[in-house]
Amino acid sequence: MPITIPPGCPEESLRPSASQGELCGAIPAVDGGCLAHLSPDQLQAHLADLAPGADIDAHGVVFTADLLQRLLRATADRSLEFGNADFSEATFTERVSFSGATFTKDASFDHTTFLKGVSFSDTTFTEPAVFIRAGFSESTDFTGARFTADVDFAGAAFTDGADFSCAAFSGGALFSGVRVEGRMRLMACAVQELVWSGARISGELEVEAAAARVDLSGVRASERVDLRLRGA
Ligand SMILES: [Zn+2]
Repeated sequence: MPITIPPGCPEESLRPSASQGELCGAIPAVDGGCLAHLSPDQLQAHLADLAPGADIDAHGVVFTADLLQRLLRATADRSLEFGNADFSEATFTERVSFSGATFTKDASFDHTTFLKGVSFSDTTFTEPAVFIRAGFSESTDFTGARFTADVDFAGAAFTDGADFSCAAFSGGALFSGVRVEGRMRLMACAVQELVWSGARISGELEVEAAAARVDLSGVRASERVDLRLRGA
């Protein structure tokens, strides 16, 4: 049976980097319009219909901090637990926070752009988390984050560093092919498998971790890299 993919939101793109006339293309929420393009009434009605624990499907949506907060409030119960969360190719135009949340199913931030910083401090991911080719700018905070399955940052760009101090990775922490500018810290981390193959570090990288397996093949660094690794 052929799979039909619904057409994306036909409104004009809200991405700051969009060219003139570029269409939004985000996953539609109501009547073809994406979350960011609904009228205030449509948005309110749509969010009221979402039950706590409902899957989040926000592929390609351009979020302000307020829109994200409203979506998170509508889909989380009091414990800040989320089901499947798809933020792939979404853009966050303001600083946003997922601090203290628990993603209980798959979390996709594949090709997601954080333009003004993001906090995942003390956030828990209980299933695989994907940040492939995500773009992180300004303050990126993963301090105390817990990943109980693999997390994949392959090809991601951290243009102003990131702090993963006290993060715990029960599976693989895959940073292969990432680009780091600024200061990246993974201090006091516990990790099963740490992969930095092919990473390009033009800022500073500080890692102090207990790791069962480490792969640093082909890393290129132009500034200070400080690695203190011990077996897990
Ligand atoms: Zn749209």
